[in-house]
Order: sequence, then structure tokens, then C-alpha cells
Amino acid sequence: MATTAFTFCPRDGTRLVLTRIDGRERPTCTVCGLADFTHVQVGSNAIVEQDGAVLLVRLNYGPRDGHWALPGGLVENDETTEEAAVRETKEETGFEIALDGLLSVWLRPGFPILVVNYRAHITGGSLQIAPDEASEARFFPKAELPPLDEIAWPSAVHGLDAWRAYEPPRP
Ligand SMILES: [Zn+2]
Repeated sequence: MATTAFTFCPRDGTRLVLTRIDGRERPTCTVCGLADFTHVQVGSNAIVEQDGAVLLVRLNYGPRDGHWALPGGLVENDETTEEAAVRETKEETGFEIALDGLLSVWLRPGFPILVVNYRAHITGGSLQIAPDEASEARFFPKAELPPLDEIAWPSAVHGLDAWRAYEPPRP
């Protein structure tokens, strides 16, 4: 059993019992039916493109202080991943955006987070960073992205790699 597994049901407090599901023994609730699979939070980012360049924000807090990140963050319980990408971009950069489709999904074994990256374009607003989260935000052309060790998260590297490789569908 993984060390992160629940002992009691997080919904109703019932002691979980091991039940074989999909080839593995999983802690399972006999009351509500919850089965304890992997635990992840969900993050949602926007790849905001303008004139062939992508919008990055420079973090000014925490262990990734000074590193560049995509606009985005954790998805709340009462919103979709799409809504989270739009909301976080507005909060962090001042821009209103419209999404242009899912670009990449990042998940690695052992990391307790799944991150989705959406392509997006600006529909309104003006650049205004959240001073408690970022020191600056600006657009980077494909050939002038910050070096890998200045990108805050592997999920952002994944999204930027997918963005550089992306070609729009042919008509
Ligand atoms: Zn339960």
C-alpha cells in the first residue's frame, strides 16, 4: 500500500477495507464506495500567445522565487480546468483570455499533481501583475525562451515544449 493511502474514508470516516480493483488491493469504503486510487491535485495553465510569443510570469515567492512560470494554478472544487486557466491568468497578469484548445497534460509517477496546459489568446484587459505573486510578466518569442533552469515547474517545460512543436491543423 502506498504511504499516502487513506486509513479512513475522507467523506464519512468509515475505516477502509482492502478490496481488489483493477488488479490491485485498494483501501475502499463499504459505505459510500470510495476507492483509494492515486492522490493528485489538478493544476491548469494558459499558454497565452501574442504575435508568436508566449506570456510568462516571474514568480517572486517561495522555493521557485525568480523563476518563470506559465499563468495558472490549482483548480478549485467549483470550477472546470478551463475556468481555472482563465481565472488564474486574469489574477496573475490582468489579461482576459479565450482558450484555443488543450495542448498538453503533465503527470509523472510520484508527483501529487496533474497539470493541463491550454493554448489561449488575449481578448481584453491589460498587463497588470499580482504584486504578491510575480515581479514581472512578459512575452517570449519561441527562439528566446528562458533557459530550462529558469523555468519554475516541469509541467511548464512540458507545455512550452508542446507549444514550440505545435502546428495548427491544416485546412
Ligand atoms: Zn465513504
